[in-house]
Amino acid sequence: MKKIAVLTSGGDSPGMNAAVRAVVRKGIYEGVEVHGVYQGYQGLVNDNIKKLELGDVGDIIQRGGTKLYSARCPEFIEPEVRKKAVENLQKRGIDSLVVIGGDGSYRGAQRLNEEGIKTMGVPGTIDNDINGTDYTIGFDTALNTIIDAVDRIRDTATSHERTFIVEVMGRDAGDLALWAGVAGGAETILIPESHSDIKEVAERIETGMKRGKKHSIIIVAEGVMTAAQCAVELRKYINIDTRESVLGHMQRGGKPTGSDRVLASRLGAYAVELLLNDVRGHAVGIENNRLTKTSFDRVFEESHRIDEGLFRLSKELSI
Ligand code: ATP
Repeated sequence: MKKIAVLTSGGDSPGMNAAVRAVVRKGIYEGVEVHGVYQGYQGLVNDNIKKLELGDVGDIIQRGGTKLYSARCPEFIEPEVRKKAVENLQKRGIDSLVVIGGDGSYRGAQRLNEEGIKTMGVPGTIDNDINGTDYTIGFDTALNTIIDAVDRIRDTATSHERTFIVEVMGRDAGDLALWAGVAGGAETILIPESHSDIKEVAERIETGMKRGKKHSIIIVAEGVMTAAQCAVELRKYINIDTRESVLGHMQRGGKPTGSDRVLASRLGAYAVELLLNDVRGHAVGIENNRLTKTSFDRVFEESHRIDEGLFRLSKELSI
C-alpha cells in the first residue's frame, strides 16, 4: 500500500488544519495510508511520526493553528540532518511528503525531493508571498482579522481626532497591509515593495488636516518599519500626536474563514492527487480560480510581486 506523510512548517496559519484534513481524507479515499509528522521538520528528524485515521482529523476544519504543530528547524539546512529525516520516512515505507508551509518550508521540501522523497508543497502562510498561487492559506483569515481591528481603531481615532499607525505582519511582503488598507479605508499604506517618502506622507496628512480631516489611519507593513519608527519619522516633518498599534500574533490565530477552508481543502486534496500521479518537486496553488502546480525552481525564480493595480487604486481612493 502506498504511504504518504504530511507536516506543517514555519509560521502557522488559519486553514492549515483544513489542509491536513484534506490530505488525510483524500489519501484514505484513494486507498493510501497517511502519516502525520508532528512539529514540522523537527519532528521529521526526531521521528515524531504517527499514522492518521479518518477520525484523527475530525473536528479540526474550523480550528486555527495546526493540530500537527509547527516548528522552526534551522539545522534542516544541513544535509546530514535531512538524511536522518529521509531515513525516518523510508524505514516506514513512506515515499511521499506533503509540506504545508511558506517559502522557507518549500526550500526544505525541494532538498528532500532531490534526496529521495517525493515532495509536494501546499502554500500555508498568512503572508500571501508565494509565487505560483494567487492566494495562500490563511491570508484571507488574517486579512479579516486586521480589518476588524482597523475598524475598531477607526472608531477611537474618530472620537479622539487622532492619527493611528497600525503595524501589520507580512514579513517582506506587503499584501496584508495593502489589502487591509484598501478594505479598511486607510489614508496611507506603507509596503516594502514600493518606496515611500515619509515627507510626502506627512505633507498629505497636513493637507488633510487643513481641509478639516479629523483623523487618519496609516497601515505600515512590518517589512517597512515598526509603527514606533514610523511615528518618529513622521514627527520629523509634522507636529502630530499619533497612537501606534502593533497587531502582532493575533493576526495568525482565529478560526479560518470559509474561503480559507475551501482553499485548504482544494489544495490539500490536489497535492495528494498529484503525488499519486507521480508529480513531485512542485507546489500547488490557485490561479484565476484554477488549481495549478509550479515546480519549486519556478516558485523561487522571482521575488514576490505586489498587485500594482491595487496599490495604485489605494492611492486614488485615499485622496
Ligand atoms: P512563514 O513565512 O509563514 O513563516 P516559512 O515556511 O517561510 O513560513 P521559515 O521559518 O522560513 O518559514 O521556514 C520553515 C522551516 O523550513 C525552517 O525552520 C527550516 O526547517 C526549513 N528551511 C528553511 N529554509 C531552508 C533551506 N534553505 N533548506 C532546508 N530547509 C529549510
